[in-house]
Amino acid sequence: MTPPEHQRQAYLRALGIDVWKTRDAADAEQPAESMTAGGLSWSELRACVANCTQCSLAASRNNTVFGVGNPDADWLIIGEAPGAEEDRRGEPFVGRAGKLLDEMLRAIGQSRDTVFIANILKCRPPNNRDPKSEEAAACRQYLDRQIELVQPKIILAVGRIAAQNLLASNEPVGRMRGRPHNLGGTPLVVTYHPAYLLRSPSQKNKSWSDLCLAARLAAERST
Ligand code: URA
Repeated sequence: MTPPEHQRQAYLRALGIDVWKTRDAADAEQPAESMTAGGLSWSELRACVANCTQCSLAASRNNTVFGVGNPDADWLIIGEAPGAEEDRRGEPFVGRAGKLLDEMLRAIGQSRDTVFIANILKCRPPNNRDPKSEEAAACRQYLDRQIELVQPKIILAVGRIAAQNLLASNEPVGRMRGRPHNLGGTPLVVTYHPAYLLRSPSQKNKSWSDLCLAARLAAERST
């Protein structure tokens, strides 16, 4: 599918390529701020994220954290935002919480290579503060396009920030977990963030039952 002209121009601008246009085209063009990631390919999307300046986090980041894994994954794991180590390496969930996430994935027969892992934000909020709503809103187009491209069978939202943003809810994780939700036709399961599980290991049994629920929902969509 060919992206609309304003989107192509915004993409080229994001890559630092000068865009020349006729006055008619300039009049018809929408402002860069209204750029959306809809219709972009994986490589176009990756380039847009790498060059993104849609919110103030662009000024303090070392690296954007696009996401990793299988672009055709059945499972899409969505976390909160990069931390210091993720910002340094450009990869999601690489610290202690990441190791626990890897173990959780292994327990359900998956791995970092078979699932796709992304975050609500592609850039690190300073001092690991919570994402601001305007940052999550600016970044949402990229996540939405990742969801469209992956077409997962199941989305696993890990932690309060991911769950509340994806489900537009203020409920605590404890009330959102343990039951299926729906995100634009894709089943979504909420579970605890691995960083929380490191602090509260007694909750691991609940997170295991969330993973089992997610696996059941994914299997139902395979038959
Ligand atoms: N926590 C998250 O939610 N995402 C990361 O990428 C790292 C830690």
